[in-house]
Amino acid sequence: MVGAMKTYSVPSQSVPLDDSWDVIVAGGGPAGCTAAAASAREGARTLLIESTGALGGMGTSALVPAWTPFSDKEKIIYRGLAEQVFLTLKAGMPHVAKDALDWVPIDPEQLKRVYDALVTEAGASILFHTHLASAQREGDRIGTILVTNKSGLTAYRAKVFIDCTGDADLCAWGGAEFHKGNARGEKLMPATHCFVLANVDDAAMSAGPGLHRAHADSPIYRIVASGKYPLIPDCHLCVAQIGPGTYGFNAGHLWDVDNTRPETVSHAMVLGRKMAQSYRDALAEFFPAAFANAVLVNTGSLMGIRETRRVVGDYVLTLDDYAARRAFPDEICRNSYFIDIHSAKDEIAKNPDEYADLRKRQLHYGPGESHGIPYRCLIPRSLENALVAGRSISCEQIVQGSVRVMPVCLAMGEAAGMAGAMAAMSHEGRVRQVEPAGLRKRLQEFGAYLPETSVEAAAGPQ
Ligand SMILES: Cc1cc2nc3c(=O)[nH]c(=O)nc-3n(C[C@H](O)[C@H](O)[C@H](O)COP(=O)(O)OP(=O)(O)OC[C@H]3O[C@@H](n4cnc5c(N)ncnc54)[C@H](O)[C@@H]3O)c2cc1C
Repeated sequence: MVGAMKTYSVPSQSVPLDDSWDVIVAGGGPAGCTAAAASAREGARTLLIESTGALGGMGTSALVPAWTPFSDKEKIIYRGLAEQVFLTLKAGMPHVAKDALDWVPIDPEQLKRVYDALVTEAGASILFHTHLASAQREGDRIGTILVTNKSGLTAYRAKVFIDCTGDADLCAWGGAEFHKGNARGEKLMPATHCFVLANVDDAAMSAGPGLHRAHADSPIYRIVASGKYPLIPDCHLCVAQIGPGTYGFNAGHLWDVDNTRPETVSHAMVLGRKMAQSYRDALAEFFPAAFANAVLVNTGSLMGIRETRRVVGDYVLTLDDYAARRAFPDEICRNSYFIDIHSAKDEIAKNPDEYADLRKRQLHYGPGESHGIPYRCLIPRSLENALVAGRSISCEQIVQGSVRVMPVCLAMGEAAGMAGAMAAMSHEGRVRQVEPAGLRKRLQEFGAYLPETSVEAAAGPQ
């Protein structure tokens, strides 16, 4: 967009109003699904608004093919609804080892149904193909939201709104403070357009070289060096077997994609689909035993977006907190995933051995280690009746590289949904009046991993 944008004043117009809900959740990705389910389970009248036709966000519509580890290398730490989702999906995938906890593949079609059941059986209602379009602020509250769908515009009022859009649309449009990228508002992590190849030879895959760039003999090195597939930008290549002969790919990067700027996403979708076909053709040439007859059967209907806005909350989770494995008296879940940053384009250009360099900069935890996420990271600083969960919670950019992944988003969502319901039903929607100790106790009743020992440690000097 060049120059100042022209503006247009929307004429005042009466639209239908629905004010029958206690809690409205915007966005039905992992965080939104558990938020809606937990809120409804508490007895709150709960509506989940989702702009696509399926729940699951990045893990279904964007075809991200695997869960990051559910364990801290000793035990499952994302429990409650997160563990329920994980175990239910795994049980439906017979080719996955029963005891697998880490990097377990995702069959996206099954996962859609797991989330449908989770949300509807808890008693929440879903509105698909419904896009949050604006949020009107009334003092320190979100008063009314407008959504758009095939009925046109509709207004909704609720006691509590939970932003699980991944991009913090609701908070941003409701006037909450947020950051995007680094201090200059730049350097978002690149996107990846995930895809699925079918008719792959499983035996050749098992016997052949690993595809990930961690394997020195991965064909990706020869593919990139050949120069024959210029759309394949780098050696990023993660693959997971999502069914017999069927593999999900999280491969390559697309830069300068900002999910809050649809023109950049539109360009990336067109390019991403061409890239996916290039990967198929390149693998057929360089690893024919496995891919000679492979077919590209699907690309994500959503672009794979790692990072956009981060809400500024009552607390901002820092790298120091992460490095200290810090515990908090109001923590609502624990997280053990490493800081997984995908490089900026100029960093890759400067440093051809980008992967080795990246590995050095990643911060990994040892067995049994994790840090807490305080309830305050879910509370937008200037809003009284809103919460945020998922990849846009309040944290430093580098920490978002860890807390953005699905297991922790599921755990945060459950806490946000429960807190939202408590605020709606007992505190006229005021989320700060929810007692963290009561919230933690209730989460523990539903199986959350919130070790008391860590909170005792947090009671000491901060
Ligand atoms: C390429 C890639 C690879 C990844 N790899 C892994 C991995 O291996 N394992 C892992 O666990 N995680 C991985 N992640 C991270 C993870 O998938 C996401 O960060 C996670 O899904 C975020 O969850 P969320 O609920 O916050 O948001 P999302 O999953 O982004 O879901 C947001 C939902 O909100 C909806 N929405 C957005 N805006 C609106 C609106 N205005 N109105 C209505 N609905 C709206 C969207 O349609 C979507 O369904 C990866 C991410 C990417 C992009």
